[in-house]
Amino acid sequence: MARHKHKPQRTCIVCREIKDKPELIRVVRTPDKQIVVDITGKANGRGAYLCKKNSCWEKGLKK
Ligand SMILES: [Zn+2]
Repeated sequence: MARHKHKPQRTCIVCREIKDKPELIRVVRTPDKQIVVDITGKANGRGAYLCKKNSCWEKGLKK
């Protein structure tokens, strides 16, 4: 009866909460040090995941 759903999960880089991937927003740091939101999830570069809390965005974007 056990249903094992293999949902991809990611960790918010700021608060370290583990969430289902759709609940996190992928951001990519570009070579010219800009941070862009990666809507497709496929952009090249160093990706990181942030949850949707404002506090995480404020801290995350300073790194
Ligand atoms: Zn967070």
